[in-house]
Amino acid sequence: MPEELLTPYSFIKVALPVPMRTLFDYKVPKAIALRHELKPGMRVKVPFGKSSRLGVIVALSNDSDWDANQVKPLTSLKDEQPVITPELMALCEWAARYYHHPIGDVFFHALPVLLRKGENAEFRTENWWLTTEQGQHCDPELLNRAPRQKDFLIAVQQHPNGLSQHAVSVLDLTPAAGKSLEDKGLLRKEARSFNKAGERHAHQTQVPPSLNQEQALALEELMDSRHHFNVALLDGITGSGKTEVFLRLIEQKIQEGKQTLVMVPEIGLTPQTLKRFEIRLNTDIILMHSNMSDRERLDAWLLAASGHAKIIIGTRSAAFIPAPDLGLIVIDEEHDNSYKQHEGFRYHARDLAVKRAQNLDIPVLLASATPSYESLSNALQKRFAWLKLRNRAGDAFIPKMERVDLRGKSLIHGFSEQALASMKLCLERKEQVLVFLNRRGYAPTLMCHQCGWIAACDHCDVNLTVHKRSNKLHCHHCDAQKFLVHTCPECESEELFTVGEGTEQIETQLHTLFKETPILRIDRDSTQRKSAMEKLTQKILEHDQAILIGTQMLAKGHHFPNVTLVVIMDADAGLFSSDFRGMERTAQLITQVAGRAGRAKKPGHVLLQTYHPEHAAIECLSNLGYEHFAINGLAERKSLSLPPFFHQVIIRAESANEQEAMQLLTAMRNDLEPYLAQEVYLVGPYAAIIVRKAGQHRALISIKSAQRGLLHQATQMMTQWLEQATKQHKIRFAIDVDPLET
Ligand code: ADP
Ligand code: ZN
Ligand code: ZN
Repeated sequence: MPEELLTPYSFIKVALPVPMRTLFDYKVPKAIALRHELKPGMRVKVPFGKSSRLGVIVALSNDSDWDANQVKPLTSLKDEQPVITPELMALCEWAARYYHHPIGDVFFHALPVLLRKGENAEFRTENWWLTTEQGQHCDPELLNRAPRQKDFLIAVQQHPNGLSQHAVSVLDLTPAAGKSLEDKGLLRKEARSFNKAGERHAHQTQVPPSLNQEQALALEELMDSRHHFNVALLDGITGSGKTEVFLRLIEQKIQEGKQTLVMVPEIGLTPQTLKRFEIRLNTDIILMHSNMSDRERLDAWLLAASGHAKIIIGTRSAAFIPAPDLGLIVIDEEHDNSYKQHEGFRYHARDLAVKRAQNLDIPVLLASATPSYESLSNALQKRFAWLKLRNRAGDAFIPKMERVDLRGKSLIHGFSEQALASMKLCLERKEQVLVFLNRRGYAPTLMCHQCGWIAACDHCDVNLTVHKRSNKLHCHHCDAQKFLVHTCPECESEELFTVGEGTEQIETQLHTLFKETPILRIDRDSTQRKSAMEKLTQKILEHDQAILIGTQMLAKGHHFPNVTLVVIMDADAGLFSSDFRGMERTAQLITQVAGRAGRAKKPGHVLLQTYHPEHAAIECLSNLGYEHFAINGLAERKSLSLPPFFHQVIIRAESANEQEAMQLLTAMRNDLEPYLAQEVYLVGPYAAIIVRKAGQHRALISIKSAQRGLLHQATQMMTQWLEQATKQHKIRFAIDVDPLET
């Protein structure tokens, strides 16, 4: 009998994390085949070139397209169970096709970092302390001369089921004392697997508010359609009680034994949000975000994969978390740009989640006060159910928006007299002011008075931002930093001055204007350290009167009940952006920040400082609100054949050399244009707005079509062409499907 027939499969097709859009064949050695059942989704170690790599089995096969003698055997099998479940395998394969991204890289993206590195997909073990027979009956008083050992022994005696290492540190016991007791034969250690979601917080019995009519209607519709795939857009102004609605839907899913995935923007997960879930839902909740250690992320992944965790709250990459009983996906702040990955595998977590829900036949809920134009367009075309909440829940008021004309007015540190007067009144009422300026640092430009020199980044075509507090010049595009200079490097003059203002500068100036008032700055710089945001939030809640100054971080989900006045310092920023999405983003930001005002029982007021009070966009937004604004915006997009009415792919290329990226894309266009369908339109290649970034010269070409299928074909052709063409040259290219940036 030929040897091959003894084993079920002789070959495997493996995806490797390499920039090649292909699978690799390997032989299965008999010794492995006889002892293990190989399945797609398991990790294998395989020889690759001169080294070895970890890959994921995609398929088992009886034959190979290659000469069997040249196919190498796999080195070892890493898993007994697939780490990529069949469900996720299908999702990853779809994503690789849709985004034209190498499948191996997609799988690796879907796995936690430690699994990419070959760690076992198993719960780690943790040592627990238990008493021995002797220790159980030992009188702690005998240890009076060793008080730490005495405390330790008492604690373990009080926990007949054992005391975890974690509890030892919580109780402030001395580990060395435990070791001494072990040496004396009074205690023993036992390794137990760590498979519980953190310490569950005591269930506080909070009586949920009874829903208002709008909320009740929305919930009813969601309840009725909860058993099958459908997408609902919960479009509710800030404070209208969206969270309250989906908490109830999640509650129902828990009762049905289902898991829920709740996606949140990158910095939108505040301690307040988590607490709200914990108080209301007495179940195992895990978090999955970038501020966790690799081990914590793997633990969370395992808890979700085992079905233990009923609620998974996570950022973008949680879209790929395995959850065997998944019954609902909620995407909070669905308009947020952090759902799109802007480098490498450029997927959109919202779109992926919708696809995943469709595969699983479960519902998706998108929530936002400022829905993306994409989702609004789907709602208008009735592809999504459109659930509107237009009133504030409870007794809260809807804030009034007012434009402040800055033309010809004298400003004091960037504030109009009207804004300052309103701020004073607000503080006198012992309420809080929120000042919004979407520019961090002290000033965006440093300039020489004598020769006009401007501090610019060495690696990008942008100016460096002045950060006075850290005494640095900082590039906000490539992160390069330099010490702040006080003499001009060109002419040695000491007359350097800054142009423009950032949050750090406004903070300083507010201190001089409002001497007695606590002023708190919230931006990426002030919240860098772990739990800094938590401390700031705590401070804000402690004070009655205060001024908060911050960037777009303020727009994300925070609840500051005592803020009644919002001042938008520069409502015109983004008004004249070259990006067709500029207006949408500006309107979302302004509306979100404005939504922070008057969230509790006090009415709120919003001041928009502008030099263009009659600009149609500013006028529409302040008078008619976001929905009107967005519907107008969509009509304009339609007339200009822009997304979401046309579909778009951008191909980006970058090279160290000034011309190569541009030449590559030009050559591609020239070669392929004759083969493209008529309904496919090309724009470019053209240089990126900031041509040089981190030392790379960037060029791009845009491909558009009203028909996805044709766009997909064209992209596939170009991807193949580029893979061939870049084999020799060191030019990187990236495919960006449904791009959010140009
Ligand atoms: P959103 O998610 O739309 O911003 P939330 O669900 O966070 O709104 O609700 C805003 C505030 O109103 C919260 O403090 C919430 O507890 C409260 N709230 C929500 N629904 C009701 C209701 N029906 N009655 C009273 N208070 C409510
Ligand atoms: Zn100079
Ligand atoms: Zn730079």
